[in-house]
Amino acid sequence: MPKVVVAGAGLAGLTAAISAREAGANVVLLEKGDRTDVGGNAAFSGGLFLFCYDGPADLTSITQDYEAGMWADRIEAPPYTTEAYTDELMAMSNGRADPQLVRALTNRSLDTVRWLTEKGVRFTFNRTVGAHVREGILHIPPGQILTSTGNGMSRGFEVIKPLVRRAEQLGVEFRWSTPLVEVLRSNGRAVAAAVGDDEPVPADALVITSGGFQANTELRRRYLGPEWENVKLRGTRLATGDGLTAALRAGAGEAGTWASCHSAAVDPTMPSPGCSEAAPPFPLHGFWLGVLVNRDGERFVDEGPGPWVKNYSKMGKAIMRQPGCEAYEIFDQRTAKRVADEFAGDAVPIVAATVPELAERIGTPADALVRTIKEFNRACQDSRTAKGITPPKSQDATPLDHPPFVAYHAVAGLTFTFGGVRIDPNGRALDPDGVPVPGLYAAGEATGGLFYGDYPGGAALMRAAVFGRAAGRTAAIEGSDSAGLESF
Ligand SMILES: Cc1cc2nc3c(=O)[nH]c(=O)nc-3n(C[C@H](O)[C@H](O)[C@H](O)COP(=O)(O)OP(=O)(O)OC[C@H]3O[C@@H](n4cnc5c(N)ncnc54)[C@H](O)[C@@H]3O)c2cc1C
Repeated sequence: MPKVVVAGAGLAGLTAAISAREAGANVVLLEKGDRTDVGGNAAFSGGLFLFCYDGPADLTSITQDYEAGMWADRIEAPPYTTEAYTDELMAMSNGRADPQLVRALTNRSLDTVRWLTEKGVRFTFNRTVGAHVREGILHIPPGQILTSTGNGMSRGFEVIKPLVRRAEQLGVEFRWSTPLVEVLRSNGRAVAAAVGDDEPVPADALVITSGGFQANTELRRRYLGPEWENVKLRGTRLATGDGLTAALRAGAGEAGTWASCHSAAVDPTMPSPGCSEAAPPFPLHGFWLGVLVNRDGERFVDEGPGPWVKNYSKMGKAIMRQPGCEAYEIFDQRTAKRVADEFAGDAVPIVAATVPELAERIGTPADALVRTIKEFNRACQDSRTAKGITPPKSQDATPLDHPPFVAYHAVAGLTFTFGGVRIDPNGRALDPDGVPVPGLYAAGEATGGLFYGDYPGGAALMRAAVFGRAAGRTAAIEGSDSAGLESF
């Protein structure tokens, strides 16, 4: 029986471990954190998966769970096709996403969601990502679909819990507080994981699923820029890039852009998460329902270029480019309640009866903020767009004229980095010439090649599951060919 060693117990690692075990391997799952850290970024995530489907039957084959109040006599869900998914990934990466990885992700997405449900993950229709009931019909906009069950914006731990249970049932051996520090090789083949002071863990195949480098201050400064040095993290503090840099030292090539990342607008008063089980929801406020202004009182970005799940990952980067790397999200009473109830979590709003008073409270020049809001209000049209101003607001534009006014302070929150190990669609780590590094595999945020400038919400969990599952299976099959041939 081949021995597969997986490094990192996030979603990519758990899916790799389960699929390697199902393919007949002995599996050791190394995790840098302790048991309370299990799940990596997925544990803090919104639990949204982006996958292709033909219509309501595909969706109801996955879920019977509805959010409270979401029951309907009928479901209307226009198809979300592989072509639509491909177009989104290509458009958001300015055509740079690796077509082979795009094809694998889109083609295997529905089957992988079904595979997750077989492992016990439960999905629901979720109104915060677009599902809504109107006249007895549940409407699902294409590609704004299911999340795992759970509460509010943080549902990801509900994905992780059943997978840990399933991995344990299958006999995956978890080793907590055991970080991979080096990939050891013999005759060019990965043959063991060095884990610090302990004995190296021998492997017929080694899968790197240790996440991105977003929690590494030095790598952030080097690749993203000095302004990212003190950024707030939205997810795991343990993704310091050790696994992916170890893979590069072992001969793997780089892929994707190292100079970009997924970064949302977040509240600076909210603590960055600690261990996964106690993770509080990390509020996003709901920028798309109001306007975003910088500390000079000026708007600087189209807050509604499309559905928020397709655009929120670039708002942190837009804020990072503003004076002081900060902004304010401004709402009036048309939207303040919805923002507070659905998106703001424990964040405390700043409230004022007039715009000049609000400006004083948040420390922006009152004349500038008054001018910005007046111009915005004048530009709002019946079609809920604000045109003829720079920048425009393309969606959800309603005048801010129902006081009291409400502001939330916002800074960039870093979700994950985009650069990583080069892989093929089966999760084999490739060298800079595109040749597989024998015995080495990778998946999830430790890899690059799919995301560049931006990212469609739900595609990261989907990527972790699709390629984690593929890498685990390939490692088990190819590891069995080499089992016994190489000894460490
Ligand atoms: C707040 C938030 C919300 C999100 N919401 C969504 C969403 O709704 N939909 C979506 O698609 N994506 C979402 N994402 C992104 C998504 O969660 C991640 O892309 C995905 O979970 C990555 O999985 P992964 O397994 O590759 O990495 P991770 O989940 O980061 O897992 C890496 C694991 O490796 C461990 N590790 C690190 N170094 C080592 C080492 N040297 N040795 C051993 N183990 C190591 C870490 O402790 C961690 O457990 C969100 C992320 C965050 C932070």
